Amino acid sequence: MNMLSISDTKSILTELISIPVLGGQPNARITGYITDYLKSFDAEVHIWKNSSEDKQCLLCRFGPAVDGGIILSGHMDVVPAEGQPWTVPAFNLTEKDDKWYGRGTADMKGFLACCMAAASMFRKADLKKPVYFAFSTDEEIGCLFGRTLADYIRQIYIERPAFAVIGEASMMQTITGHKGICVAETTVNGSAGHSSRILTEVSAVHVAAQLVQWLEYRMKKLIGEGRVNAHFYPNHSSMHAGRISGGIAPNVIADHCFFQWDVRVIPGDDALDLIADFENYCRELEIEYRKRFPGFKIETRLLHPPVPPLITSPESEIVRILNKINNTTGTSTVAYAAEAGQFSEAGYESVICGPGDIAQAHRADEYVEVSQIEKCLKMMEGIAQYLSE
Ligand SMILES: [Zn+2]
Repeated sequence: MNMLSISDTKSILTELISIPVLGGQPNARITGYITDYLKSFDAEVHIWKNSSEDKQCLLCRFGPAVDGGIILSGHMDVVPAEGQPWTVPAFNLTEKDDKWYGRGTADMKGFLACCMAAASMFRKADLKKPVYFAFSTDEEIGCLFGRTLADYIRQIYIERPAFAVIGEASMMQTITGHKGICVAETTVNGSAGHSSRILTEVSAVHVAAQLVQWLEYRMKKLIGEGRVNAHFYPNHSSMHAGRISGGIAPNVIADHCFFQWDVRVIPGDDALDLIADFENYCRELEIEYRKRFPGFKIETRLLHPPVPPLITSPESEIVRILNKINNTTGTSTVAYAAEAGQFSEAGYESVICGPGDIAQAHRADEYVEVSQIEKCLKMMEGIAQYLSE
């Protein structure tokens, strides 16, 4: 088999980076580019569209319509670069010291570029089992279409793929576990007044602070309850408020405060259960504070549906296949959430394995080492070989 070309991969990645679709934005331009590219290798490309047709996921298959294939999946959206101290152009590829810089090089257009660079090889190989490309969008704002895409595969193809490899940055290590995540926004409606009236009004800021404290209290209680998993750090589900806003002046009791928070769950914990505990506590506070201000209210809404954790057995077949191909051993877990849990839930044995370091993701001067891309291209060759056996 011919070695895949690093320079082809570089020019594909350059194109991908120069189409910066941020999470939440319409993405027809990037799916258009990828579709045209794949069609030049006779791939039959399927595009899933949402009802307003501004969000698209891309799917294609190389090889025969038989069970047991491998899905290669990644997201096409990236996080913003604005406000970050970039010293190279964020949306252009810059090569320096055997590294490729640019938004998405590590997270995760580097992986997409490797898939695309392998398209012609997959096309020409005598595959006995198929390989699929499944590219999603809006991953960065809550893995919004991961499950949709995983289900779309079943809808489009009669055969049943066996495995999914999600190419998030893992330094090409095989990752079998990630935490799940759920993001919520809580709004507290209190009553305004002179700050001396602290016993008469209900300060939304004070109640919000109480609720944030409760998150930390509940999180610590999980450890006491023995709800821990040594494969993760921290080893328990975590609850964290990352943004809070309320009030207008130090001497005015705030009638409004909101905060945004997340729950990151280990396998076995359900984010919605923890949110239900939180809601129960809110109802208790409402009863208490309505005695003082009848209009007092706490409302919580989810900013996106819960993303399930990933828990694939280190003994599973896809781990054996990838570790053999990549010449790696063992498995590990990651603290970030990804779409692998959604693919797993949809019935595909799933792992994360992709080029680059997650430490580079979402930062200024994001980069991927060229050696990581080379390893990923080798993995593509190994996958083609495995599927041809
Ligand atoms: Zn990512």
